[in-house]
Amino acid sequence: MNCFCCGQEMAKARKVKIRRCVPFPSASLGPNSAAHVAYREAMTYKWDVVCQTCYELMDNVVGAADIASKEFHLAGSSRRNRARWLTKQQYDEWRLKDADKRFLQGGPLMGWLQPIPELPAIIRDEPDAARKQALFDELLAEGRNAKPMAGK
Ligand SMILES: [Zn+2]
Repeated sequence: MNCFCCGQEMAKARKVKIRRCVPFPSASLGPNSAAHVAYREAMTYKWDVVCQTCYELMDNVVGAADIASKEFHLAGSSRRNRARWLTKQQYDEWRLKDADKRFLQGGPLMGWLQPIPELPAIIRDEPDAARKQALFDELLAEGRNAKPMAGK
C-alpha cells in the first residue's frame, strides 16, 4: 500500500479522511462544467491511507500541510492522532470490502452478477431446436432490457 500524499510504500498506515487541494476552476466555466464537477469530486474528503510522517505533518490545528508541493487537508475526525492504524492485511481487506460495496451499488458489470433464471418449461420442453433457440433468444433480449434487480 502507498501513501496518498508522498506515494511511499508502507507496512503500516494511518487510515484518514483526506483531500488534495486543487485550484478552483474559472468561474466563467459554470458550475456544471466538467472542470467544476472534477473540482468538487477532488475536494470531497475520502478515505485513504497515509504514512506516519505525512500524518504528523498534517495533524495540526487546521489539518493542512504541503507535501511534495501539493496541499493536503485532513478532515476534522482524522486529526488529533485519532486516525486508525492499518496493517497491509487490514488494508487489503478494507479495499476488497469497499470494492464489493461499490460493485453492489450498481457498477457497469452489475448485470453479470444477476443469477441466470431457470429456463422456463416452455423453452426447456420445446422439441423443435430452431424454435427453442428463437424462444431462448427472446428470453435473453427480455433479460437485457429488464431493470437491474433492487438491493441485496
Ligand atoms: Zn507519506
